[in-house]
Amino acid sequence: MNIILFGPPGAGKGTQASRLAASHNLVHISTGDILRSAIAEGTPLGRTAKSYVEQGALVPDDIIIGLVREVLEATGDAKGFLLDGFPRTVEQARALDALFTELGIADVRIVILTAPDQELINRMVNRGLEQGRKDDAPQTIRHRLEVYNTQTEPVKAYYHGKSGAHARRVLPVDGLGSVEDVTARIEKALG
Ligand code: AMP
Repeated sequence: MNIILFGPPGAGKGTQASRLAASHNLVHISTGDILRSAIAEGTPLGRTAKSYVEQGALVPDDIIIGLVREVLEATGDAKGFLLDGFPRTVEQARALDALFTELGIADVRIVILTAPDQELINRMVNRGLEQGRKDDAPQTIRHRLEVYNTQTEPVKAYYHGKSGAHARRVLPVDGLGSVEDVTARIEKALG
């Protein structure tokens, strides 16, 4: 089984992804974590991505698609994977479908976490205080939600509208409540 964990910033993707990856023995691929490490290490990828990430903008599609391609090719099909924070645009979703076809990856479930905007904002503000993420500053949080609404939200319609060979199982899950409650809901949806 392979999982795409989708949802707005602050919905709990990172927290739930770690738990699901551990319980299902999946390789956890977080594009945000990869970018943050690259920025901290000052690699060429990090130097390119830094201003986008810190301003709460999306890193350009060609860069992020190339990155995910490399990671998925390296992961192979020995173990399932869990994608956290990718795809974030329809173009990324299309490129991912092409990559799945190329790599012969078939069993993909898409978990869509939902939560009201005010809850997302509260969670990001708290995370900013606890972890000091620059993009959790109030101004940047607002921008990230706008970016989500304009560029990422359409990915949902893309997946809901798919049929035939590329049909994927889309599983909407309520992201409100305790971490444990949300994990239990996701597990139930995965069946
Ligand atoms: P995250 O940790 O998933 O909230 O990602 C943090 C930041 O990394 C985002 O606000 C973007 O700047 C960048 N990022 C992560 N994933 C992607 C993606 N799939 N496409 C473009 N930018 C991304």
